[in-house]
Amino acid sequence: MKPTNKPIQICSNCIMDTTDPTIIFDEKGVCDYCHNYYDNILPNWTNSEADEVNILPVLEKIKKEGKNKDYDCIIGISGGLDSSYLVHLAVAKWGMRPLLYHVDAGWNSDVSTSNIMGLVDKLGLDLYTDVINWEEMKDLQRAFIKSQVPDIDTPQDLVFFSSLYNYCAKNGFKYILTGGNYSTECVREPLAWGSYYQTDMKYVNDIHSKFGEKKLVTFPRCDIFKYKIQYRLLNGVRVVKPLDHTRFIKKEAEDTLEELYGWQRYKHKHHESRFTRWYEAFWLREKFGFDKRKNHLSSLVLTGQMSREDALKRVSEPELPVEELKKETEYVAKKLGFTVDELMGYFHGPNKTFQDYKNNHKLIQAGTKVMQILGLEKRAFK
Ligand SMILES: [Zn+2]
Repeated sequence: MKPTNKPIQICSNCIMDTTDPTIIFDEKGVCDYCHNYYDNILPNWTNSEADEVNILPVLEKIKKEGKNKDYDCIIGISGGLDSSYLVHLAVAKWGMRPLLYHVDAGWNSDVSTSNIMGLVDKLGLDLYTDVINWEEMKDLQRAFIKSQVPDIDTPQDLVFFSSLYNYCAKNGFKYILTGGNYSTECVREPLAWGSYYQTDMKYVNDIHSKFGEKKLVTFPRCDIFKYKIQYRLLNGVRVVKPLDHTRFIKKEAEDTLEELYGWQRYKHKHHESRFTRWYEAFWLREKFGFDKRKNHLSSLVLTGQMSREDALKRVSEPELPVEELKKETEYVAKKLGFTVDELMGYFHGPNKTFQDYKNNHKLIQAGTKVMQILGLEKRAFK
């Protein structure tokens, strides 16, 4: 599945296109992501401070329950925009007392570390950092690269998620505040674009058993079913997304963080990890023809934060200059114990998908359908 020369159809309203094999257009050329936004998200979402009346009672309850504890909630922080802005609002505006939780998987950019420390110092917060065993992390990342699937960021996504949720369950944290939001993420990453469920352990284990060389001993893992059933239903861990109940505009949030905490902005979403930056700008785009800027920027187009023309112009150009990509490829190869030739050998190898390995896709899809029927999930999962 190398990028082909087949003509690409682009949505007439956002910039999603037929590089997502599951996209559907109506007779006006408007895609199903747009329809999902207008039909399912927008009617329930105002992106205004006035909507805080709907989240404040929840936050008050969390504060009350946590009154005699060291912290009333936990917030996973990457140093990226969404989680950083959430920390700012939660503490400075709403008076919460969170423990900040960070997972160091070995790929932090200098900017992300300094962004986290800016918030910690200025707001006087406690930060817990889980440093992942590098040899195990490396082994799983190498296995995913060798497997030829586009999902090579799964090891990082899995570890960020699992470390936090396992910690909460173990230490009795009931409330997790997350920076998940419609404002910058209302167009979900298509599964085919390397965004298959990171917590499908059947899939992860199959790839690791075929291509891994070391045992994963301390590597945090949390299967999607363990999370949904044990943690959420039995342990009562609750996830709260306050950013969907206030005004959250990317540019305004960046300005606020910069002014108050010396926070530095990233050129693009998810670039707080050096691996993710390289993977999205190079591996995924050049090897598979998938460009995650399309769904990220489409979210900004739909929510009125960027013009469609500017978004199209942005994705017509590579995110990083060729020289920098070359340097980053050398860095990634060396860190993962490949020679550049070995890594590029995988780059030129035959592309595969999650369907080429054992997985729980059908079971997860059925579960998601139930969530949608119950009104707990509004984004389109395909
Ligand atoms: Zn669209």
